[in-house]
Amino acid sequence: MTKILNDTEGERHRAKMAKRKAVQDAEVAEKKIEKGLLIVHTGAGKGKSTAAFGLALRMLGRGKRIGVVQFIKGAWHSAERDALRADADPGDLSLYARIAAHRRPAVTGLAGEFCAGCHMPVSNEERRAVRTGTGLTQCANCDRILAP
Ligand SMILES: [Zn+2]
Repeated sequence: MTKILNDTEGERHRAKMAKRKAVQDAEVAEKKIEKGLLIVHTGAGKGKSTAAFGLALRMLGRGKRIGVVQFIKGAWHSAERDALRADADPGDLSLYARIAAHRRPAVTGLAGEFCAGCHMPVSNEERRAVRTGTGLTQCANCDRILAP
């Protein structure tokens, strides 16, 4: 059911929303820590890879760095993976292959001040590089590629 607002109610609603937005903008302006975003797509059925690669392409279009970790049963072939692999830095792919030959997963995240793969401390400098750097950063202890 639709409720028709009169001018007074409409103006009151706009003022309330403007005040709410001002509060949210102030909260966002106070935030100082820059963090990455991890999105996990799970479940049965189709669309998980398509959704993930769609988000990845959006971030690439905005000049952001991305990492894709995909758990695949068997010899599953993904056209999206092939397309992204074609644009990936050959040096990065080679590094990943070298690490993946002896470490699984080859890419891991940060767990606070620690590598989530080997649980050893990661220096402030390395953590900053993971969050803001343009290249890949490896854990000094286990060599895994660190993702934000
Ligand atoms: Zn490590």
